[in-house]
Amino acid sequence: MTESYAVRTVYEFPVAGHLCSDGSVRFIRLVRRRGNQHPPQGVCTRCHQLFEYRKPQRSRVRHYTSDGASHF
Ligand SMILES: [Zn+2]
Repeated sequence: MTESYAVRTVYEFPVAGHLCSDGSVRFIRLVRRRGNQHPPQGVCTRCHQLFEYRKPQRSRVRHYTSDGASHF
């Protein structure tokens, strides 16, 4: 595999785990930069993968409740 410097989005905070280039799972601490609107980021010192934390998005699928509209 070729090295990729693309940002990898993670949904774990403050520590994100990943499968590193040596085949072991490594945990990277994500830090929030002061005075910056960017989300917390962290870089693996071994494979130099950049991680960026993103809040988990809620499902946009709106599920309709079956009850509540059954009586007139
Ligand atoms: Zn790594």
